[in-house]
Amino acid sequence: MSIGDNVRIISEKIDDAARKSGRTGADITLVGVSKTVEVPRILEAVECGVRVLGENKVQELLQKHPQIPDVSWHLIGHLQTNKVKSIVGKVSLIHSVDSLRLAAEIGTYAKKLGITADVLVQVNISGEATKFGIAPGELDALFEGIQTLENIRVLGLMTIAPLGATDSQTKKMFENCNKLFVDNKRKKYHNICMEVLSMGMTHDFEAAIESGASIVRIGTGIFGSRNYQI
Ligand SMILES: *Cc1c(COP(=O)(O)O)cnc(C)c1O
Repeated sequence: MSIGDNVRIISEKIDDAARKSGRTGADITLVGVSKTVEVPRILEAVECGVRVLGENKVQELLQKHPQIPDVSWHLIGHLQTNKVKSIVGKVSLIHSVDSLRLAAEIGTYAKKLGITADVLVQVNISGEATKFGIAPGELDALFEGIQTLENIRVLGLMTIAPLGATDSQTKKMFENCNKLFVDNKRKKYHNICMEVLSMGMTHDFEAAIESGASIVRIGTGIFGSRNYQI
């Protein structure tokens, strides 16, 4: 199937899942995850209506960025503090803030550019030791810290369900993340709001949307399986 067919099928599924949660497809942002995908194929997806691209590596994003105009870029992978300066200002959203040190670094470089950087806080909802993201119990302390920073704005939360979880375990984790998201909406921090919930990939995005996701990150479902040799 062509990339265009894939985008159409995914969009229909997004719409169906959104309706089940009382929304429409227009309420959900599709991030086309273009890691390892060559530029001509990414351009094909953009022509078929993908408006936001997600990369998980800073270097790869920077390399593709000038070749693909008229889209927004999201950094969805782990960000090291020493790479912050090359990425701030180039992406419209960083999904993967999981420490105060990283948030502070982002704020510092955003200030130098005279902008406010939009980020999500990545939550490790499964408690898996190997995953990035902050434990739910540490979220309050992180928010207290981020509140004191300038030039950074938290728009919501991001999570990744672990590989190998059953469908019902995955659903439960998405629901738990949505609960955190909703609970934190009530808290009034000046630079933290809960408007965006990024969860769901090719194999679990429908469950994520039904559990409240407003951003889904889809790679394989659009571009086919990845070739890491590239
Ligand atoms: C690769 C990746 C995705 C997309 O995964 P698919 O299963 O190909 O849809 C989503 N989110 C993150 C953080 C990723 O690294």
